[in-house]
Amino acid sequence: MIMNLHTHSHHSPDAQSDTVAQRLAYANSIGLRFLAITDHCEVNRMESAAFYGAEESEMCIYQNRKIAEASITETYAAKSIPSVCRLLCGVELGQIPQNPEGARAIYQDPRLDLAIGSVHELPDLPDFYFLDYSQYEIPVLITAYFEEVLKVAASDAYDILGHLTYGLRYLPDGNAYDITPHIPIIRDIFRTVIRNGKAIELNGSRLKNNPPTTEPDLRLLKLYREMGGKLLTVSTDAHQNEHVGLHLEQLEQLARDAGFSELTYFIRHQPFQTPL
Ligand SMILES: [Zn+2]
Ligand SMILES: [Zn+2]
Repeated sequence: MIMNLHTHSHHSPDAQSDTVAQRLAYANSIGLRFLAITDHCEVNRMESAAFYGAEESEMCIYQNRKIAEASITETYAAKSIPSVCRLLCGVELGQIPQNPEGARAIYQDPRLDLAIGSVHELPDLPDFYFLDYSQYEIPVLITAYFEEVLKVAASDAYDILGHLTYGLRYLPDGNAYDITPHIPIIRDIFRTVIRNGKAIELNGSRLKNNPPTTEPDLRLLKLYREMGGKLLTVSTDAHQNEHVGLHLEQLEQLARDAGFSELTYFIRHQPFQTPL
């Protein structure tokens, strides 16, 4: 197993298990070669709830600057632990277009190897996980999602575009949703990522679902490759040790099926290729 460049440690509010050292020990035990810790930093909530005149809730976790700082500090320190698996210091920046300057400040932290740019929420809405889908015109909602992802793709505060199609993850019967009408904007997203020298990830979090799928799926991964996309990472978005190696070999095979012969890792935001 080559890499898992998207994992959450106990610093992420939705993970709360496994220190970085425990995660690295587990990665070594399964023979992983590259591991990134990428805890959440929702940049639209960097400060305290009081700062925004809001209240903390399960749906809205604040103080994301503190979460990122604690995670980056622990991960950077863990780089001195003797390890065959190479530990990369990362962060998952959510909602970059809602606070580009805050995102860039984190991105420029000299300890960071990589940043994933993700869209978990649309402006003034909670995470897609919490939406009541009966309240929305689904194609309108998904169009807004891809428009937000395009803004992330055009930003300068990420290295890897996170889990493309996350906006469909919690749709009732999301796997049946036809994305064909969204292909033009998805092409715009890929064109922007490629032009800016960034990567996308093949995220296997939804391989645990029934029916299983990936973000993006094989159709979109092939489209990215056909358009000239060369920079690709593989990840499971693990929130616990047991999910670090889960389906990784399947993801690597999917990448080969889409035409990739190399995967990408980042050191201090510089991409490096490794044979697949
Ligand atoms: Zn995410
Ligand atoms: Zn994640």
